[in-house]
Amino acid sequence: MPQTDYKATLIEPVRRLVVKVGSAVLSEAEGLRADVIENLAGQIDTIVRGGREVVLVTSGAIAAGRARLGRRGATIAERQAAAATGQIELMRQWAKAFDARGRTVGQLLLTHQDVAERKRRLNAMHTIQTLIAADVIPVINENDTVAVEEIRMGDNDVLSSLVAGMVQAELLIILSDVAGVLTGDPRKRPDARLIPLITDPEAEMRGLVAESAGPLGSGGMATKLKAARQAARAGISVIITSGRSRDALEMALNPARENGTLILPARTRLKSRKHWIAFALRPAGVLAVDQGAADALRSKGRSLLASGIREVRGDFTSGDCVSLLDSEGVEFGRGLVNYPAVDVLKVKGRRSEEIARLLGYKVADEIVHRDNFVLIEDLA
Ligand code: GLU
Repeated sequence: MPQTDYKATLIEPVRRLVVKVGSAVLSEAEGLRADVIENLAGQIDTIVRGGREVVLVTSGAIAAGRARLGRRGATIAERQAAAATGQIELMRQWAKAFDARGRTVGQLLLTHQDVAERKRRLNAMHTIQTLIAADVIPVINENDTVAVEEIRMGDNDVLSSLVAGMVQAELLIILSDVAGVLTGDPRKRPDARLIPLITDPEAEMRGLVAESAGPLGSGGMATKLKAARQAARAGISVIITSGRSRDALEMALNPARENGTLILPARTRLKSRKHWIAFALRPAGVLAVDQGAADALRSKGRSLLASGIREVRGDFTSGDCVSLLDSEGVEFGRGLVNYPAVDVLKVKGRRSEEIARLLGYKVADEIVHRDNFVLIEDLA
């Protein structure tokens, strides 16, 4: 079926969408491209006037800061200094462009913790919702100046898909410097062509991610595909298209026009809690389990009991996310653990009836309850 057949049913009813614009679209060596920003603000204004709600995720702070400071430093501190300068410039230009259309913008700078920790996530969600209700365009970037390597999301593709999930958007449009998802790396394969439609993101994208992971690197097509799969698992449609054409957003939303790559929502969607466990949280430790436990979790929908645990790594506390490894050492799931690492160490390999005696307390029979567990081997 052509892309447009799906667009009619998926895109037409969209009320809320997230638009992500990459640095490659917004900037060049001399800094930000005011003409591109103005044009995009105009397109977003038209969408909002048409009755839809738009949340904007914009990169470009580091690129703008580097141009302003005249340095291309590669250290974290230098990138952060560039972002500190460039974020102001970036927002100034967006604010000016929207202001010319009588629109106000609100800035949110988020770190990984802000989307991972329940309270902070709720807070950010409420702020975004309040901004939308007040007819303000929320403009989001990663808080690059404080996000050190371990807590960085690293790229705004992933941030935009997490934001889309947070605000329950129905559509994520990723504006990039390429026309969409291609069959291969165009620098290596001259015959690479655009894939207009991905109907089964799980199956079709696995190969594509592998193909594009190497040469295009971080922030390249690999991270866009990862972000798209995450969004797809939350039931969100994704369009990856070129941000350079003057009517990119209008074309993306036009059900009669085919452009870029449309990725359909996954057939099996994760509930928001499981999506959060699988994608927003970072594991604080590892539980290696035996074959029986791995099978019970994988195919029988059971919880993880102490008896199946063989090894405990990391210094997690109860409620943290842990990664589960099977007997081959392959990660197959993630879940929230009911006991801290020191206590899991004491009960591993033992029967659930022994927990109270061994620890002097008991919060649950399960170490990881099935409601707090998500299989991730097909999501990796
Ligand atoms: N947050 C970075 C910036 O604004 C960009 C990260 C990315 O390119 O995805 O410069």
